[in-house]
Amino acid sequence: MLYSILKKSGTDELHLFPSKKNDENKCIKAKSSICRKALLDDCEKVVYLNNCRDKNDTRELCASYGEPVCAACISALYATY
Ligand SMILES: [Zn+2]
Repeated sequence: MLYSILKKSGTDELHLFPSKKNDENKCIKAKSSICRKALLDDCEKVVYLNNCRDKNDTRELCASYGEPVCAACISALYATY
């Protein structure tokens, strides 16, 4: 499972979206965030945040951002499944 970190438009909220690469190596994101509070269509398309990172990378990126990432989304990174 890969993850993308996106910012919800008009807010400071960062959410994680489950993602995967397609055959053309393009990052395809789920339509809603892990916590289901943010929809892909509601997020800023500016991609200074990160697309299709693995779990470890995503954890490090979340820790490095000054702005907090949604706690509900983060908790999924630490859940075992
Ligand atoms: Zn969230």
